[in-house]
Amino acid sequence: MAVSLNTLLERSIRNMGSGMNQVVKETALEVIKRSYKEGIYVQISDGYRSHAEQQKLYNQGRTTSGNIVTNAKPGQSLHNYGLAVDYFIVSDDGQKAIWTVNAKWKRVAAIGKSLGFEWGGDWSSFKDYPHLQMTGGLTLSQLQAGKRPKLTSKVDDTITAPDQKVESETVTNWIKVTGDWKGQTLRNGQYGKPVKQLQTMLSKNDPPFYPNKGAKNNGIDEYYGDDTEDAVERYQSYYGLKRDGLAGKEVYGSLKENEPKSKSKPSQAKGTVHLPASAKTWRTYKLNVKPVKKNSDWSLTPARYGGLTYKILDKPYPDVVTIKTGRGKRNIYVGSGTSAVIK
Ligand SMILES: [Zn+2]
Repeated sequence: MAVSLNTLLERSIRNMGSGMNQVVKETALEVIKRSYKEGIYVQISDGYRSHAEQQKLYNQGRTTSGNIVTNAKPGQSLHNYGLAVDYFIVSDDGQKAIWTVNAKWKRVAAIGKSLGFEWGGDWSSFKDYPHLQMTGGLTLSQLQAGKRPKLTSKVDDTITAPDQKVESETVTNWIKVTGDWKGQTLRNGQYGKPVKQLQTMLSKNDPPFYPNKGAKNNGIDEYYGDDTEDAVERYQSYYGLKRDGLAGKEVYGSLKENEPKSKSKPSQAKGTVHLPASAKTWRTYKLNVKPVKKNSDWSLTPARYGGLTYKILDKPYPDVVTIKTGRGKRNIYVGSGTSAVIK
C-alpha cells in the first residue's frame, strides 16, 4: 500500500521543527502535496536548526565521528533562520529513503522552484541536492544582524511581517510535565515545574548556564525550548557528559553533585567531650558516612592514654559529635549508653 499523504506531511512537519518561517514551511508542505499528485513521494528531513544543532552538525567529521556534512558554523546556515528545508524521496511504501538524484528528485526541485524556492542543486561551487531555501533577497550577514525577509507565499497570500524574529514565533505544541524534577528525562517541547527546576539548577551552577542570559529572568520560564536545550548542551560539554540536549539522570546527578553547598551554619557545638580511661576502645566514623557500627573506620584507645579529651567541633546528629583526631576529623557516638562525659 502506498504511503499516505498525511504520513508524509506529519513526518515532515515533525522534522522541520519549531522555528520555521511560516511561508517556507507552508511552501515545503505544498511541494510535498503537489509531488504526491504526480506520484512522487517526498519527505522533509530537516528544517529549522538551532545554533546548538548546527554546532553539533558542524562538529561531525571534525571533532566527532562521521563524515563532514556541512561547512556552515552556527548562524551561517539558512536552516538556522528557519528559511531552508532538505528533502528526500521515499519508497512507495514510505519505509525507505531514496537519495538518488534522478528524474523524480529533479521534478521535486522544479516544483519547489515554481513555488519560490532556490534549489541547492543549481549551485555551481557546492551542489546541495536536498536543499531548498528562501532568502527573500537578504544576505547571510543581514540575517546574522537580525533582519528577516518579507516572504510572499505562492500557496496563498500569507505574508510574514518584515524583520520578524522567526525564533520567537514558535509552533511547538508544548507538552506539560508536572511534579518535581528528580532525573526523569526532560526535553525540548515540554513545559512545567520540573523544567523550571532544571533551568534554576543550571543557572545556580558555578559557572552558571542560563537558558538565555540577559533575557527576562535569564530565560528561566519553565519552557524547554531551544535556549534551554542549548544551555543543557553547553553544560554537558563543559562537564564531559553525553551531549544530546536531553536533561535526564546523568545531567540531574551532575547538577546535584555540583550544587553549591548551602553555607554551613556556624556550629553551635561547644565544649569538650571526655572519653574516660575505663573505655578500652571508641569507634570513629568518617564525616561522610552514617555513624553506625559497620561504617566505623578506626578506633580511639582512651584506656591507653588514661582517658582522652577533645574539643567538640560539631554535633551533626543527636548523640554524635565531631572531633579532631590524629587521623583528621571524625565523628564519635557519645549517647547516654556510653561513658562519654560532655562539658
Ligand atoms: Zn539544507
